[in-house]
Amino acid sequence: MSTPTSSAVAATGQGSFSLKDFLSSFMLTEFFKGMMLTGKYAFSGKITLEYPEEKTPLSPRFRGLHALRRYENGEERCIACKLCEAVCPAMAITIESEVRADGSRRTTRYDIDLNKCIFCGFCEESCPVDSIVETSILEYHGEAPGDLYFTKSMLLAVGDRYEAQIAAARAADAKYR
Ligand code: SF4
Ligand code: SF4
Repeated sequence: MSTPTSSAVAATGQGSFSLKDFLSSFMLTEFFKGMMLTGKYAFSGKITLEYPEEKTPLSPRFRGLHALRRYENGEERCIACKLCEAVCPAMAITIESEVRADGSRRTTRYDIDLNKCIFCGFCEESCPVDSIVETSILEYHGEAPGDLYFTKSMLLAVGDRYEAQIAAARAADAKYR
């Protein structure tokens, strides 16, 4: 069985004595450095929030719960072009449409399965009339199967309820679009 040579011991630093390291250990230098760092953050401004009472600001581009919007006269914006359905990489959107008596085309079915959705925002970007949007709503959940399957009426209801917030986010981001 071979033993370590003196050059190998020197290379790894084993067996060498450092007065500096000895004094550093004896004076608890590293301990006091750590305490100083702890003290610095203990008395500086806090960087954590008491969620949900406190919340971080959200970008106007935040991609949360989907909504379908209406125009001010109450008419739904969606013209059933199906671009959002075509572009959706998760195939989460299902649209059926019909032509109305006045010749306009509207959806008879507009569903989004949020279990499939990856919140990429492609549907929102593809929409020519700013109908399907992703809101800043992030506090929602589902408990039963189907809870996260949003139908047209549910999406319109979200849009109706949060239109002011959606419009404000669009206005804030308008110059970057
Ligand atoms: S955010 Fe992306 S994955 Fe979700 S519905 Fe829109 S296009 Fe599909
Ligand atoms: S939401 Fe927009 S992109 Fe999708 S079908 Fe309606 S108009 Fe077309």
